[in-house]
Amino acid sequence: MTTTRHALASHRHWVFDLDGTLTIAVHDFAAIRRTLEIRDDEDILAHIAALPAPEADAKRAWLLEHEYALAKASRPADGAVPLVRTLAARGCRLGILTRNLRELALLSLEAIGLADCFAAADVLGREDAPPKPSPAGLQRIATGWSIDPAELTMVGDYAYDLASARAAGARSVLVNLPDNRWPDLADWHFADCLGLHAALA
Ligand SMILES: [Mg+2]
Repeated sequence: MTTTRHALASHRHWVFDLDGTLTIAVHDFAAIRRTLEIRDDEDILAHIAALPAPEADAKRAWLLEHEYALAKASRPADGAVPLVRTLAARGCRLGILTRNLRELALLSLEAIGLADCFAAADVLGREDAPPKPSPAGLQRIATGWSIDPAELTMVGDYAYDLASARAAGARSVLVNLPDNRWPDLADWHFADCLGLHAALA
């Protein structure tokens, strides 16, 4: 694929991962594990799912409340707000594809002051589509926007974001890592959203 900076500035349809991409990651998984008495080598959601119902329900409720508090305390990643505002001002279509719950994603967007840049229908959470790296979420957004997935540009901070773009035939941008850890999956790489924003000038 030809990937020039000039081409990047012409992209009109953008989908962002949320946690760690537009927001600073604040999940303190060690504290969650301590509180819920889950070992370091166990998957948190899998552990809870395997518990007897009353205990599972209690721990799930605690986790959700904890996640609400974190969402409300979300902080924007470097350059994320001007980046999204620039794209919105240019009339680009903007979406969110997250493994978080949609309601928490909307809360996070509100907290970082970007809620008005995204139509609620274009914010897809883990209940809306099979999770990344599945291409299903991107395909659903493309269908909603009546475009081919190849016209989408997915921005994320992790391999799953890039892999979902690859699987959908969309373009991929890696941000918020000093080095490109997945050169085979990322069409572009920037150290942060400031770098991506600068490339769109
Ligand atoms: Mg992320």
